[in-house]
Amino acid sequence: MALVVLACEVSVAQSSGDPHFSDAAASLFTQSAFAHGYIHGYEDGFHAADQDLQFGRLSRGVHARARSHPENLIPSQNPASLRKGYSQGFVAGYADGAAGSEFRAISEMREAAAVLGTELPNNDAPGSGMAMAANFNRGFEDGYFAGQAYAGKPRAPLGDFAYLTSFCMGHLYGPTADDKRLGDPQKAACRGYATGFRIGYSDIRSREANTRASAK
Ligand SMILES: [Zn+2]
Repeated sequence: MALVVLACEVSVAQSSGDPHFSDAAASLFTQSAFAHGYIHGYEDGFHAADQDLQFGRLSRGVHARARSHPENLIPSQNPASLRKGYSQGFVAGYADGAAGSEFRAISEMREAAAVLGTELPNNDAPGSGMAMAANFNRGFEDGYFAGQAYAGKPRAPLGDFAYLTSFCMGHLYGPTADDKRLGDPQKAACRGYATGFRIGYSDIRSREANTRASAK
Protein backbone atom coordinates (compact mmCIF):
# COMPACT_ATOMS: atom_id res chain seq x y z
CA MET A 1 0.00 0.00 0.00
CA ALA A 2 2.81 2.38 0.90
CA LEU A 3 4.22 1.92 -2.58
CA VAL A 4 0.96 3.03 -4.13
CA VAL A 5 0.69 6.07 -1.88
CA LEU A 6 4.23 7.16 -2.60
CA ALA A 7 3.99 6.59 -6.31
CA CYS A 8 4.30 9.39 -8.81
CA GLU A 9 5.02 9.87 -12.45
CA VAL A 10 8.49 11.35 -12.07
CA SER A 11 10.49 8.14 -12.33
CA VAL A 12 8.41 7.14 -15.32
CA ALA A 13 8.93 10.54 -16.89
CA GLN A 14 12.67 10.29 -16.58
CA SER A 15 12.84 7.00 -18.42
CA SER A 16 10.41 7.63 -21.27
CA GLY A 17 10.45 9.53 -24.52
CA ASP A 18 6.87 10.73 -24.01
CA PRO A 19 6.66 14.29 -25.38
CA HIS A 20 4.20 15.30 -22.64
CA PHE A 21 7.06 15.27 -20.19
CA SER A 22 8.85 18.01 -22.12
CA ASP A 23 5.70 20.05 -22.75
CA ALA A 24 4.98 23.40 -21.10
CA ALA A 25 2.39 21.53 -19.04
CA ALA A 26 4.86 18.79 -18.05
CA SER A 27 4.68 19.79 -14.38
CA LEU A 28 1.05 18.68 -14.36
CA PHE A 29 1.77 15.39 -16.07
CA THR A 30 4.68 14.51 -13.80
CA GLN A 31 2.65 15.27 -10.67
CA SER A 32 -0.61 13.71 -11.74
CA ALA A 33 -1.27 10.34 -13.38
CA PHE A 34 -4.88 11.42 -13.81
CA ALA A 35 -3.88 14.56 -15.74
CA HIS A 36 -1.45 12.56 -17.86
CA GLY A 37 -4.09 9.95 -18.64
CA TYR A 38 -6.54 12.73 -19.38
CA ILE A 39 -4.39 14.35 -22.06
CA HIS A 40 -3.78 10.98 -23.76
CA GLY A 41 -7.50 10.25 -23.68
CA TYR A 42 -8.32 13.69 -25.03
CA GLU A 43 -5.89 13.28 -27.93
CA ASP A 44 -7.23 9.82 -28.76
CA GLY A 45 -10.86 10.93 -28.44
CA PHE A 46 -10.34 14.00 -30.60
CA HIS A 47 -8.59 11.96 -33.26
CA ALA A 48 -11.23 9.19 -33.16
CA ALA A 49 -14.03 11.73 -33.61
CA ASP A 50 -12.19 13.24 -36.54
CA GLN A 51 -11.93 9.81 -38.16
CA ASP A 52 -15.57 9.03 -37.47
CA LEU A 53 -16.53 12.34 -39.06
CA GLN A 54 -14.35 11.85 -42.13
CA PHE A 55 -15.58 8.37 -42.84
CA GLY A 56 -19.20 9.32 -42.32
CA ARG A 57 -19.59 7.05 -39.33
CA LEU A 58 -20.90 9.81 -37.06
CA SER A 59 -23.86 10.47 -39.34
CA ARG A 60 -24.73 6.77 -39.11
CA GLY A 61 -24.60 7.02 -35.32
CA VAL A 62 -21.37 5.01 -35.01
CA HIS A 63 -19.01 6.25 -32.31
CA ALA A 64 -15.53 5.06 -31.47
CA ARG A 65 -15.03 3.94 -27.91
CA ALA A 66 -12.20 4.70 -25.52
CA ARG A 67 -9.45 2.11 -25.17
CA SER A 68 -10.30 0.15 -22.04
CA HIS A 69 -6.76 -0.40 -20.75
CA PRO A 70 -4.66 2.63 -21.73
CA GLU A 71 -2.29 1.91 -18.84
CA ASN A 72 -0.90 -1.00 -20.88
CA LEU A 73 0.50 1.53 -23.36
CA ILE A 74 1.25 4.50 -21.13
CA PRO A 75 3.66 3.72 -18.31
CA SER A 76 2.45 5.06 -14.97
CA GLN A 77 3.04 4.50 -11.29
CA ASN A 78 -0.68 4.89 -10.70
CA PRO A 79 -2.43 2.99 -13.50
CA ALA A 80 -5.88 3.16 -11.88
CA SER A 81 -5.82 6.95 -11.75
CA LEU A 82 -4.34 7.17 -15.25
CA ARG A 83 -7.17 5.00 -16.58
CA LYS A 84 -9.80 7.21 -14.93
CA GLY A 85 -8.26 10.34 -16.40
CA TYR A 86 -7.97 8.70 -19.80
CA SER A 87 -11.65 7.84 -20.00
CA GLN A 88 -12.69 11.37 -18.96
CA GLY A 89 -10.29 12.90 -21.45
CA PHE A 90 -11.54 10.65 -24.22
CA VAL A 91 -15.15 11.76 -23.70
CA ALA A 92 -14.13 15.43 -23.68
CA GLY A 93 -11.87 15.11 -26.72
CA TYR A 94 -14.42 13.11 -28.65
CA ALA A 95 -17.13 15.69 -27.97
CA ASP A 96 -14.90 18.55 -29.14
CA GLY A 97 -13.74 16.67 -32.23
CA ALA A 98 -17.25 15.62 -33.21
CA ALA A 99 -18.50 19.20 -32.82
CA GLY A 100 -15.64 20.54 -34.94
CA SER A 101 -14.43 22.59 -31.97
CA GLU A 102 -10.83 23.45 -31.36
CA PHE A 103 -8.37 21.12 -29.66
CA ARG A 104 -8.44 22.99 -26.37
CA ALA A 105 -7.13 20.58 -23.74
CA ILE A 106 -3.40 21.13 -24.08
CA SER A 107 -3.67 24.92 -23.93
CA GLU A 108 -5.89 24.62 -20.86
CA MET A 109 -3.36 22.29 -19.26
CA ARG A 110 -0.54 24.73 -20.04
CA GLU A 111 -2.52 27.60 -18.58
CA ALA A 112 -3.19 25.58 -15.44
CA ALA A 113 0.48 24.62 -15.19
CA ALA A 114 1.47 28.29 -15.54
CA VAL A 115 -0.90 29.25 -12.72
CA LEU A 116 0.70 26.61 -10.52
CA GLY A 117 4.11 27.76 -11.63
CA THR A 118 6.89 27.24 -9.19
CA GLU A 119 4.44 26.41 -6.43
CA LEU A 120 4.53 22.74 -7.32
CA PRO A 121 6.22 20.49 -4.79
CA ASN A 122 9.96 20.27 -4.88
CA ASN A 123 10.97 16.84 -6.11
CA ASP A 124 14.55 17.22 -4.94
CA ALA A 125 13.64 16.83 -1.29
CA PRO A 126 14.18 13.15 -0.51
CA GLY A 127 10.90 11.27 -0.23
CA SER A 128 8.72 14.35 -0.16
CA GLY A 129 8.38 14.85 -3.89
CA MET A 130 6.70 11.51 -4.46
CA ALA A 131 4.33 11.88 -1.53
CA MET A 132 3.47 15.40 -2.63
CA ALA A 133 2.74 14.22 -6.14
CA ALA A 134 0.45 11.51 -4.76
CA ASN A 135 -1.43 14.17 -2.80
CA PHE A 136 -1.52 16.53 -5.75
CA ASN A 137 -2.93 13.74 -7.93
CA ARG A 138 -5.56 12.79 -5.37
CA GLY A 139 -6.67 16.42 -5.22
CA PHE A 140 -6.61 16.79 -9.00
CA GLU A 141 -8.84 13.77 -9.47
CA ASP A 142 -11.36 14.86 -6.81
CA GLY A 143 -11.30 18.44 -8.07
CA TYR A 144 -11.92 17.32 -11.65
CA PHE A 145 -15.15 15.55 -10.71
CA ALA A 146 -16.19 18.37 -8.36
CA GLY A 147 -15.69 20.85 -11.20
CA GLN A 148 -17.82 18.73 -13.51
CA ALA A 149 -20.56 18.51 -10.88
CA TYR A 150 -20.43 22.24 -10.22
CA ALA A 151 -20.67 23.15 -13.90
CA GLY A 152 -23.51 20.68 -14.41
CA LYS A 153 -25.79 22.62 -12.08
CA PRO A 154 -27.55 25.83 -13.01
CA ARG A 155 -25.33 28.30 -11.21
CA ALA A 156 -23.61 31.50 -12.10
CA PRO A 157 -20.40 30.90 -14.07
CA LEU A 158 -17.37 30.53 -11.86
CA GLY A 159 -14.64 33.04 -12.60
CA ASP A 160 -12.54 33.09 -9.47
CA PHE A 161 -10.63 29.85 -9.37
CA ALA A 162 -8.27 31.15 -6.68
CA TYR A 163 -11.22 30.86 -4.31
CA LEU A 164 -11.11 27.09 -4.76
CA THR A 165 -7.74 26.73 -3.11
CA SER A 166 -8.85 28.62 -0.01
CA PHE A 167 -12.15 26.71 0.07
CA CYS A 168 -10.19 23.47 -0.11
CA MET A 169 -7.72 24.51 2.58
CA GLY A 170 -10.64 25.31 4.87
CA HIS A 171 -12.71 22.19 4.23
CA LEU A 172 -10.82 19.33 2.62
CA TYR A 173 -7.80 17.10 3.22
CA GLY A 174 -7.18 18.05 6.83
CA PRO A 175 -3.55 17.11 7.51
CA THR A 176 -2.78 14.08 9.63
CA ALA A 177 0.06 13.98 12.14
CA ASP A 178 1.84 11.38 10.07
CA ASP A 179 1.74 13.38 6.85
CA LYS A 180 3.18 16.51 8.45
CA ARG A 181 6.66 15.03 8.33
CA LEU A 182 6.49 15.34 4.59
CA GLY A 183 5.79 19.05 4.42
CA ASP A 184 2.29 20.15 3.70
CA PRO A 185 0.27 17.44 1.98
CA GLN A 186 -2.94 19.42 2.33
CA LYS A 187 -1.49 22.27 0.30
CA ALA A 188 -0.39 19.86 -2.43
CA ALA A 189 -3.81 18.19 -2.48
CA CYS A 190 -5.59 21.56 -2.61
CA ARG A 191 -3.44 22.85 -5.45
CA GLY A 192 -4.34 19.67 -7.28
CA TYR A 193 -7.98 20.14 -6.37
CA ALA A 194 -8.15 23.70 -7.72
CA THR A 195 -6.34 22.68 -10.91
CA GLY A 196 -8.47 19.61 -11.58
CA PHE A 197 -11.60 21.62 -10.82
CA ARG A 198 -10.78 24.08 -13.64
CA ILE A 199 -10.39 21.24 -16.13
CA GLY A 200 -13.55 19.39 -15.09
CA TYR A 201 -15.54 22.62 -15.04
CA SER A 202 -14.28 23.60 -18.45
CA ASP A 203 -15.18 20.18 -19.92
CA ILE A 204 -18.83 20.54 -18.98
CA ARG A 205 -19.00 24.16 -20.11
CA SER A 206 -17.46 23.21 -23.47
CA ARG A 207 -19.86 20.32 -23.86
CA GLU A 208 -22.75 22.75 -23.35
CA ALA A 209 -21.26 25.15 -25.90
CA ASN A 210 -20.86 22.28 -28.39
CA THR A 211 -24.51 21.32 -27.90
CA ARG A 212 -25.66 24.91 -28.40
CA ALA A 213 -23.55 25.22 -31.53
CA SER A 214 -24.93 22.02 -33.06
CA ALA A 215 -28.51 23.06 -32.27
CA LYS A 216 -28.15 26.23 -34.35
ZN1 LIG B 1 2.11 11.17 -22.39
